[in-house]
Amino acid sequence: MSILNVLEYPDPILKQVSEEVINFDSSLEIFLKDFIETLNSHKYCVGLAAPQVGNLQRIIAINILQARKPHPNNGLLVLINPKILEASNFKIVREGCLSIPDFTANVKRAMKIKVKFQNLKGETKELETTDFEAHAIQHETDHLDGILFLDRITLPSSNLFRRKQF
Ligand SMILES: [Zn+2]
Repeated sequence: MSILNVLEYPDPILKQVSEEVINFDSSLEIFLKDFIETLNSHKYCVGLAAPQVGNLQRIIAINILQARKPHPNNGLLVLINPKILEASNFKIVREGCLSIPDFTANVKRAMKIKVKFQNLKGETKELETTDFEAHAIQHETDHLDGILFLDRITLPSSNLFRRKQF
């Protein structure tokens, strides 16, 4: 296993649209091991999308157990070809991104979602989740369409913040 290099803005790969995963084979399994190890290697990192490590496939991993503060969660989630079917209870929340290490931003996100996805065997599943986990899934799913939180800020002068440390 190895920790993969995380691309940072303005790397053009981050602006590309990722492709659906079709082959659920051993190469996917090998990639997922490295991908999850990469996610877990970053302190407080709760989610990662495959394009952030230069792999333009529709794969995200979420691990709210790594959050700075405790939140309700489903443990480690690997969502392949995720599709958000329902979104409600929108709120303005602060978010960060491993690919934009110097900033955080206020972004509007649904606090309740239903997401359809495939697991690593290719089986179709559905998950309903709320709060921080729902928020993280939306952020990571955006990456699969080349969307960064910078694209979701309405007024940068009041909604974009430089991180104090790191
Ligand atoms: Zn991100």
